[in-house]
Amino acid sequence: MEFKNLSLKEIIAWIKAKKFSQKEVWDYFQERIKKLDPTLDAFNLVNSNFVEKDINSTLAGVPIWVKDVFCEKWVTTTASSRMLENFVPPYSATVIDRLNKAGMSSAGKLNLDEFAMGWSGENSALRITKNPWDITRIPGGSSSWSASSVASGMIPAALGTDTGWSIRQPASMCGIVGFKPTYGLNSRWWVMAMASSLDTPGTFTKTVEDAGLLFGIMSGFDPLDSTSEKVDTKIDPSIWNKTDLKWVKIWVPKEYFIDGIEAWVKSEIEKSISKLKELWAEIIDISLPHTEYWLAVYYIVMPAEVSTNLSRYDGVRYGYANDEWLGINELLKKNRAEWFWKEAQRRIMLGSFVLSSGFYDAYYKKASLVRELIKKDFEEAYKKVDVIITPTAPSVAWKIWEKVDDPLKMYLSDIFTVNGSLAQLPWLSIPVWFAKSEDSEQVELPVGLQILGPKFWEQKVFEVWHVLEQSLKDYIWSKKPKIWN
Ligand code: GLN
Repeated sequence: MEFKNLSLKEIIAWIKAKKFSQKEVWDYFQERIKKLDPTLDAFNLVNSNFVEKDINSTLAGVPIWVKDVFCEKWVTTTASSRMLENFVPPYSATVIDRLNKAGMSSAGKLNLDEFAMGWSGENSALRITKNPWDITRIPGGSSSWSASSVASGMIPAALGTDTGWSIRQPASMCGIVGFKPTYGLNSRWWVMAMASSLDTPGTFTKTVEDAGLLFGIMSGFDPLDSTSEKVDTKIDPSIWNKTDLKWVKIWVPKEYFIDGIEAWVKSEIEKSISKLKELWAEIIDISLPHTEYWLAVYYIVMPAEVSTNLSRYDGVRYGYANDEWLGINELLKKNRAEWFWKEAQRRIMLGSFVLSSGFYDAYYKKASLVRELIKKDFEEAYKKVDVIITPTAPSVAWKIWEKVDDPLKMYLSDIFTVNGSLAQLPWLSIPVWFAKSEDSEQVELPVGLQILGPKFWEQKVFEVWHVLEQSLKDYIWSKKPKIWN
């Protein structure tokens, strides 16, 4: 059986029906990794020890891989940083514990941009992963390899984290489903921190229903995470039977049709709007007044939190240290200069600057106040509509190294995703279309569309995008990357 063609839900059903054993599924994916990983280079660690799980558990032993920031007890967890190359955590993340209890076979660690900071995967200190649709292109970032490995059928599902776009954008660039829930619903306990008020664990899957399945297991109050929310996260299973969008009001913010957006992304939105109308959704034009401040606010709040979170990696408390004793100040300086990649260093400097006395009021405090206005924009919007849709990224996957010398260009590509992160809302990106690259190779590249719901309204987000996904299913599933076979 070619398990690469099946969703998580389908594989679990086959195992439970005893048509295939857990070991056959495990071996299939191990073989596929052996075949494709030399080309895609996605894994930091592959666990090759098979352990049988309870067949009656929710996940029935299906293998799932995780971004290398989710700590697992006694399993090396590196954040793809030289600083933590040999770090072995003494605890497991709450979400990992919950998945293990539900019968996941924990199968290994996936490469990322160092400490989840990046757009393309080029910031990993360990390896450069490729996009399965075109191996000369980036798979997106920072959870790039979670996306690349699901999109290439090397694994059925993966975990990632999203701070500003790191689940939705790689999912969009690799043509799969990326889901980031409301902040505080998936615990951050023992998930390595990038920016604590934004970081949200989430998933990469082939279908929206699979995303719902994993969310049901991972989410819920965790007393170990002080920002964990006490809300009911159960999803009503009847939503998976819906076939139309009658009574759903969808807003398409006009600010999203900015100049820098690529033509195919624009036409993707237009086509999808027609599709949503066919499904009876009501489409309304809206405006979010503080749109122009999203990026500026994100790139002040995020580095401020990064600089605080990364201060513990100095080679003394955590992380790699030089052997030579240079006196404490010189030693710390040398450790951090040598073992952090340049993007981490850039953000530590930016963050320390906006938090420093004298500049705190002018930058960090002001940005935090504007963040509240951005949240209010959304609260107002959701008084009138159910969900908002936007493109996931302003472009399709670009060539490896194409933008690496221009950090500002990279920063701009977060334009459509950081707002929902600042407002801590649930987002889901699904592939809706394939565009041909503009060069002579004319490769087909996936384009994603995202849906944004009010806080704690994951159910609505799943419901609406499941209906759209089903209506596009034949087209989307007929497309496969060249390396698929
Ligand atoms: N591209 C964004 C950044 O580099 C997103 C990172 C993330 O979501 N982890 O900050």
